[in-house]
Amino acid sequence: MDAEQLREHAHKMVDFIADYYKTIESFPVLSQVQPGYLEKLLPDSAPDYPETLEHVLNDVQEKILPGVTHWQSPNYFAYFPSNSSIAGFLGEMLSAGFNIVGFSWITSPAATELETIVLDWLAKALKLPHDFHSTGQGGGVIQGTASEAVLVVLLAARDKILRTVGKDALPKLVTYASDQTHSSLLKACQIGGLNPELCRSLKTDASTNYALSPEVFSEAVSRDIASGLIPFFLCATVGTTSSTAIDPLPELGKIAKVKNIWFHVDAAYAGSACLCPEYQHHLNGVEEADSFNMNAHKWLLTNFDCSLLWVKDRSALIQSLSTNPEYLKNKASQGNMVIDYKDWQIPLGRRFRSLKLWMVMRLYGLEGLRNHTRNHINLAAYFEDLVGQDPRFKVVTPRTFSLVCFQLLPPANTEDTNKLNRDLLDSVNSTGSVFITHTVLSGQFILRFAVGAPLTEQRHVDTAWRILQEKATALLGSL
Ligand code: PLP
Repeated sequence: MDAEQLREHAHKMVDFIADYYKTIESFPVLSQVQPGYLEKLLPDSAPDYPETLEHVLNDVQEKILPGVTHWQSPNYFAYFPSNSSIAGFLGEMLSAGFNIVGFSWITSPAATELETIVLDWLAKALKLPHDFHSTGQGGGVIQGTASEAVLVVLLAARDKILRTVGKDALPKLVTYASDQTHSSLLKACQIGGLNPELCRSLKTDASTNYALSPEVFSEAVSRDIASGLIPFFLCATVGTTSSTAIDPLPELGKIAKVKNIWFHVDAAYAGSACLCPEYQHHLNGVEEADSFNMNAHKWLLTNFDCSLLWVKDRSALIQSLSTNPEYLKNKASQGNMVIDYKDWQIPLGRRFRSLKLWMVMRLYGLEGLRNHTRNHINLAAYFEDLVGQDPRFKVVTPRTFSLVCFQLLPPANTEDTNKLNRDLLDSVNSTGSVFITHTVLSGQFILRFAVGAPLTEQRHVDTAWRILQEKATALLGSL
């Protein structure tokens, strides 16, 4: 790496990215290209000789950008947000600059120690019980995604119970979660070799706002025990993907504890808001949990990827995931003086992700981070009001954070509600001026409006609502 060449090229790249952000609203939020578009634009083999950066950036502008969906656009209201920020971006730059591979402490002591420190900072800020701090038996670790987080704790829980009941019991192990739980749990069960029929997806409905009922969970556990099965894992969610439902942690956690079931709490999206004192109570009951996860890369201004996992018993993770080959042995690890995060995750190699989280926490401060989520929640409340004022629409589930679930209502007996809303979604997204997504709740096709892009202001919400109203008028007029 030639330092002067880096300086020159990196300046050009920063200029390119800064210009991208300056003009981000001029692109269709949802890419409008057709499958296979890029193959037609790029050569079918790699260049034999070096090309110039200008040449490549030109292609990025002309060929790549049309195929980009602009997650950082202020008009992005789809799925859940995936925040970037200057702080997160600079942290990523620094991490790319050092390009260390911090699998054990010795491979870059700062990477391990900074990760432990910032995860302890956040554990304190979220008021997680002391058991989750690194100073006790537990601690925090950065995973790539919430999917990896739930996988590693599921493996830890599986192996822990099998150490007690014997390895042959694997086909009898049962996991529990609501039917609103993110699909990553099912994937984890598949990877973990669990009997797919014993991955219970417990039914929820509008009567509990799609939260898991403790009675339903308790009955399922009792039934399974009576049939000779072994309940071992419960995943509860604070802020489900479809509608931000909140499972009742205290009640579920108490049942799990009595039945010796590992209790995992997934707050991938909503965890960030729980830094605010007024939303912190949504984590009440987390003291009953064995593990807790939230994605800093969703709504905490930390560029993807950065998923935060805390466990109360780090030895359970380590027993499942550690390896100790000769070529990695060193004094610090052998002497049990340090954390080797390779034993808390699936891969060996790991990036210096704590740098960007540390930068975010320092350049915003906890109060800055709180105001970031508060601002989005206020904008979502504003949008919810707009929907409520138009009798052609209805808000479908109560809004807690920054997601509004709503539907366009058909004039009596004239049209299928699901088709109408699917058509509205397509029509709105095809404008390229706004991007929203959908879910299905109780068989109903529901529109989701998720506020959370850092650049979103009230005027963007107003524009999105105007487009929704205009497209609704056109659709209803054509019936
Ligand atoms: N859990 C919840 C509640 C989610 O909403 C999501 C993604 O949106 C996930 C887990 C999976 O997140 P990841 O992409 O980090 O695996």
